[in-house]
Amino acid sequence: MQQAVACPVCRYVGPPRRVTPGSFLIELVLWLFFIIPGVIYSLWRLSARREVCAACGNPQTVPLSTPAGQAILNQNHNP
Ligand SMILES: [Zn+2]
Repeated sequence: MQQAVACPVCRYVGPPRRVTPGSFLIELVLWLFFIIPGVIYSLWRLSARREVCAACGNPQTVPLSTPAGQAILNQNHNP
């Protein structure tokens, strides 16, 4: 179960979308022909992977357990 997040930009509340940069194809080619760049590329993709807002793609989401997340949730319920 993925933890729900709140987005301060569009007030979306729900599970985030996981974004992995780069291309699996490039990773595969690097691994086949050049082992060391393949390792570096894989590590970079993993380290650069992040969770963004599923609605607007904003990477600055806050967990619902934080006061900022609760504030967004309350704003949605009490317009
Ligand atoms: Zn958003």
